[in-house]
Amino acid sequence: MTAFDYELFVIGVGSGGVRAARMSAAYGARVATAEEKFMGGTCVNVGCVPKKLFVYASHFSEEYHHAQGFGWDAVSPNFDWQTLLKNKNAEIQRLNGIYKGLLDNAGVTHYDGRARIVDANHIEINGEVVSTERILIATGGWPVVPDFPGNEHVITSNEAFFLEELPKRALVVGGGYIAVEFAGIFHGLGVQTTLSYRRELFLRGFDIDIRQTVSEELTKKGIHLAYETNVDRIEKRGDGTLLVHFTTGHTYETDLVLYATGRAPAVEDIGLENVNVAQRENGAIIIDEEFRTSEPNIFALGDVTDRLQLTPVAIEEAMCFASTQFLGERRVMDYDNVATAVFCQPNVGTVGLTESQAREACSTIDIYRSSFRPMKHTLSGSDERFMMKIIVDRETDKVLGVHMVGAEAGEIIQGIAIALKMGVTKTQFDATVGIHPTTAEEFVTMREAVSV
Ligand code: NDP
Repeated sequence: MTAFDYELFVIGVGSGGVRAARMSAAYGARVATAEEKFMGGTCVNVGCVPKKLFVYASHFSEEYHHAQGFGWDAVSPNFDWQTLLKNKNAEIQRLNGIYKGLLDNAGVTHYDGRARIVDANHIEINGEVVSTERILIATGGWPVVPDFPGNEHVITSNEAFFLEELPKRALVVGGGYIAVEFAGIFHGLGVQTTLSYRRELFLRGFDIDIRQTVSEELTKKGIHLAYETNVDRIEKRGDGTLLVHFTTGHTYETDLVLYATGRAPAVEDIGLENVNVAQRENGAIIIDEEFRTSEPNIFALGDVTDRLQLTPVAIEEAMCFASTQFLGERRVMDYDNVATAVFCQPNVGTVGLTESQAREACSTIDIYRSSFRPMKHTLSGSDERFMMKIIVDRETDKVLGVHMVGAEAGEIIQGIAIALKMGVTKTQFDATVGIHPTTAEEFVTMREAVSV
């Protein structure tokens, strides 16, 4: 038994913090957590979960339309934003309770309030100071809005989940996950939507065929994509509408501007000035393989370290942390072949190297690519196309990357990620019998490398 009140104090109960607290307690540690906002952090409250619910909601408009080719009467559906908000909020409240229950059942002491580090072994919370052997910073990230005249008129994804009413027109600024996902959500819910991105093609860092296919598909659906432009300033008019002035000289009138221009590590006001925790220029906490900061008994994981800002990554990091610290089994996080999905419409699913990364890594690669109209759309009338791509190291036959744009791409790529993690070869893809008729079978039937 140590002289400390706790063996671990976790600041922030998002995906990473909850998992770290729960597992550490399960391994026998005396654990406390603190959270100023809601249980479950970004993912549960203003991220993955409500976003996916909104994506489902927004997809129905298309589905109603598609149904007509299958014999259903023409319907003119009405959408009620308030119903969606109410049901979404109730579900999130349920999840908040589940997260609290997880901590209680694990025997974790939870403090509601803002925790501040006093020194490397003490935390102040609601005026009380407790001692702890280790501190884990799992405070996540926060949306960043750049400085420009009129930026007080924009919202971020945080507010987008609680809009009192749905606007008629919306401008989404940014070209990453959140921008393309929200452009799809707004459009599907009937909002006249424009997405503006400062470079020539959004989703930078993703495979080029994903980027091009998503760009084409969003355009076909009616989302206006404004590339190579940025917002210069925004004016709010007397009637509440916003006049956006672009760097290219154009102006654009809209009812709402959503900024999705990245998230910064949430390190404000947690007492970092009282300890020796090294940070990168953007505030991200620097850690080693064991999630240890430059202060030996302070650790950090998840978005606050700004590595891969993904919920399942934070969760796996937490598993490694708890195992290493309290189970006595050292586990190091493997960041290779982390699969990810972008829930734009159609979805993106991706794992492994992009084509350009593979070209840098290998002397010769083979590319297998298929672009097609899915079977459902032979009757639905939609001109939506899917794209599937496999990148192979010609020398070793190893599959380096798999990329998809299409319905349920995230679901499909998850299984493929297991194969990649196991070092799958193209020959093994080819030896796998397909499931017919599915979209996914295309992954085991592509035989001809495309000329590159
Ligand atoms: P991203 O980092 O993915 O994208 C930020 C975008 O904003 C980029 O296109 C960037 O352009 C652009 N940008 C940055 N600064 C400016 C600026 N000053 N003016 C104009 N444009 C700018 O951030 P998101 O906010 O989309 O998402 C944050 C993180 O959340 C993601 O990294 C992701 O890991 C995670 N997330 C994951 C999801 C999922 O798994 N489905 C869903 C949503 C979020 P440029 O390309 O030029 O840098």
